[in-house]
Amino acid sequence: KPSAPTSASGKPGVPGVGAIVAVASGKGGVGKSTTAVNLALALAANGLKVGLLDADIYGPSVPRLLGLSGRPQTVDGRTLKPMEAFGIKAMSMGFLVEEETPMIWRGPMVMSALTQMLREVAWAPLDILVVDMPPGTGDAQLTMAQQVPLAGAVIVSTPQDLALIDARKGLAMFRKVDVPILGIVENMSYFLCPHCGTRSDIFGHGGARHEAERLGVPFLGEIPLELAIRETSDSGNPIVASDPAGTYAATYRSIATMI
Ligand code: ADP
Repeated sequence: KPSAPTSASGKPGVPGVGAIVAVASGKGGVGKSTTAVNLALALAANGLKVGLLDADIYGPSVPRLLGLSGRPQTVDGRTLKPMEAFGIKAMSMGFLVEEETPMIWRGPMVMSALTQMLREVAWAPLDILVVDMPPGTGDAQLTMAQQVPLAGAVIVSTPQDLALIDARKGLAMFRKVDVPILGIVENMSYFLCPHCGTRSDIFGHGGARHEAERLGVPFLGEIPLELAIRETSDSGNPIVASDPAGTYAATYRSIATMI
């Protein structure tokens, strides 16, 4: 049995799982989950065995984004079998509680749920496990960044100053716990009018690229604000899977080669 890689920080890895990569944002609503799901599918399209762990305990969105419902089975009465969609494995609190049930939990319970979703799920064999992190830099995020043997973090931000300020804090958090920053993705980068083709920079444009340069981390790419991305996400058929030959799938695949 191959032994699990141990991260530079000495945290034990997950047996049979290659790299664990976090997708994070400083602020909610910037498209972190949408990016995490499409990046996971793009990594799979690039030929990797991929898992997606939804670490957003209070607001899980992976089940809906992947069009998955139902309960995971257990393998041996304890280890959960991950759910599967579009060729990737997935685990989320959303599979374990009803959609309308609020998670009224304190930090330690969140941590133990995350640890279970990481270590008591039959993930192996995986080349890469993408973790859709909860937004922000609170206790749960910090503990997560400290306890999970992360190979690196991808930061998602809109070009808007407010989102960038928070993205900077997220980045600083990962740096503090020695998690390498793999780069920044600018989501909702611009809008192309589907009727007249005019481009509008709704949240400004280029802010994340500029920020990446300033902070000395890679700029991974820009994803526009696009109706098809929102619609395909909402219908549980993300754009990388539903339109694999399209330009957005190509953009996500190219970002995937850089992480
Ligand atoms: P977060 O995980 O940061 O809270 P989500 O991924 O849930 O953000 O996205 C928030 C909303 O914005 C969702 O309705 C999603 O479909 C939409 N969205 C995200 N990225 C895009 C995009 N590039 N174009 C259009 N809609 C998007």
